Amino acid sequence: MAKSRGRGFTQYYIPMLESRSTRMLMQEQLLRQAVERDEFELHYQPQIHMHSGELAGFEALVRWKHPDRGLVPPDEFIGFAENRGLIAAVDRWVLNQACRQAKAWQDAGHPAVPMAINLSAQEFRQRDVVREVAQALEDSGLDAGLLHIELTESTLMLSGGQMSETLQDLKALGVRLAIDDFGTGYSSLAYLRKHPIDLLKIDRSFVSDLTHNPDAQAIVGAIVQMGQSLHLNIVAEGVETQAQQQLLKDMGCAMMQGFLVSAPLPSDQAQHWMSQHCHPL
Ligand code: C2E
Ligand code: MG
Ligand code: MG
Ligand code: MG
Repeated sequence: MAKSRGRGFTQYYIPMLESRSTRMLMQEQLLRQAVERDEFELHYQPQIHMHSGELAGFEALVRWKHPDRGLVPPDEFIGFAENRGLIAAVDRWVLNQACRQAKAWQDAGHPAVPMAINLSAQEFRQRDVVREVAQALEDSGLDAGLLHIELTESTLMLSGGQMSETLQDLKALGVRLAIDDFGTGYSSLAYLRKHPIDLLKIDRSFVSDLTHNPDAQAIVGAIVQMGQSLHLNIVAEGVETQAQQQLLKDMGCAMMQGFLVSAPLPSDQAQHWMSQHCHPL
């Protein structure tokens, strides 16, 4: 191989290049196949109300059922899927699956709590996201108010006018909009006025620094106060210790999510978690 293509390259360099690009191509092929065959799985992480400890909702987090590598976490393929233009298809599968699961739990007698999904910027750029969301709600029968869509600050910064309209249209469907990883992106606070946002999720990095870093405390405190003034719900992400929980509670943060409550769980375990923690009316 190296010889036949090797004009101008040293012989050992080409096989390395080839094997890397071949590997990437194989991964891309596998990911395309996964999209076609629905080879993904959702895990669900509970969010609770800080004061009562009651279930406040779930966040659906995707995993890739990889033929050789087992369950691959999103951080290991979302970026790749974005580069290869495949993330919108993944997100669309997630949207539909999460809506169906939320409705199925509700129908099985579990409390009707919100289900949050993550949508990448590409979903907004490439697809008619409003139509897809409307369709998923219709197909599943899920109440629109129970679907929360998490966006990042960078998604909000996409081509201003068009984004505004899309978000207004989503709101008109009745779904709720959340900003994920809040405080880590480059964006101005003006968009909180400009866009119909319902909820902010304080990024895990601030939460993990909370107990030993006064700056992190000041930032979280400011986010919580701003949320109260602007009538936004606030969820703290990545809460791992009781000390963090106590500080957040003292600061007036209303909801939390994190390993302290539970890791993201496969569907059957999430359902079991609900039957342990939620009592029927
Ligand atoms: P995210 O939306 O900010 O989700 C929270 C991530 O933090 C999850 O990682 C969750 O497992 C992890 N986490 C939750 N509690 C704790 C904690 O107490 N400590 C620590 N260390 N980690 C915690 P996960 O599932 O690996 O997802 C990573 C990211 O991948 C997500 O961050 C989200 O940005 C992205 N992602 C996940 N599912 C999807 C999806 O369906 N579509 C898109 N576009 N992105 C997704
Ligand atoms: Mg999220
Ligand atoms: Mg987050
Ligand atoms: Mg994230």
